[in-house]
Amino acid sequence: MIAKRLSSIKEDIASLCEKAGRDPDEVTLVAVSKTYPVERILEAYDAGHRHFGENRVQELVPKMQALPDDIIWHMIGTLQSNKVRLMADRVNCIQSVVKTSHLKEIEKRAAMHERTISVLVQVNISNEDQKSGCEPEELPALLDHASQLSHIRVDGLMGLGELTANRDRIREQFRHLFALREQHRAFSRSNVSLEHLSMGMSADYDMAIEEGATIIRIGSAIFGERDYP
Ligand SMILES: *Cc1c(COP(=O)(O)O)cnc(C)c1O
Repeated sequence: MIAKRLSSIKEDIASLCEKAGRDPDEVTLVAVSKTYPVERILEAYDAGHRHFGENRVQELVPKMQALPDDIIWHMIGTLQSNKVRLMADRVNCIQSVVKTSHLKEIEKRAAMHERTISVLVQVNISNEDQKSGCEPEELPALLDHASQLSHIRVDGLMGLGELTANRDRIREQFRHLFALREQHRAFSRSNVSLEHLSMGMSADYDMAIEEGATIIRIGSAIFGERDYP
């Protein structure tokens, strides 16, 4: 079931890329496995999938320990500095960095493990009251701070579209994130390169691909509906 859904989503991604004149190899599918047990994740793994995303450190850590070593793990949920140390020995990409204190803590913990951790800076693009991400104006200072660190690599930006049925609004927000990436791309350092744009989930990944996403984060369309969000 999961293998079947995965392959049909991958086909869909390929055809969306073709229509948009894009190379499907430049779009990475992160399977968002939050709330699903390791057995379900293994079904996707056995089908050849390797990128998985979780939104809570308490759930990510036991799954990282239980599942195969060659999985590439993405932390995509709201980041608490005091939890960074719990995942720093293993997590591959932290997509939800929003402030310099996050960068400082990741740098410190990655250094302790003699690793480099890839991060994306999450930008608030949704105009919602409950904001998620830094404000666009805060990007230059964050990128500049990151450029002085040696155990962090900034690989791009991440954004969450608004929770709305209005697809045009979500598309506008994806375009905004794309424009921000273009605007800040000139800021390129040895460890800062805004190659990636992580945007799009089960309900809107088609638009995200059309608008230039290189990482899409899909949960329910692969694993089925969750009992809770
Ligand atoms: C849960 C979640 C997703 C995936 O959502 P689906 O609608 O299940 O595809 C993507 N990104 C983030 C940050 C999430 O928390």
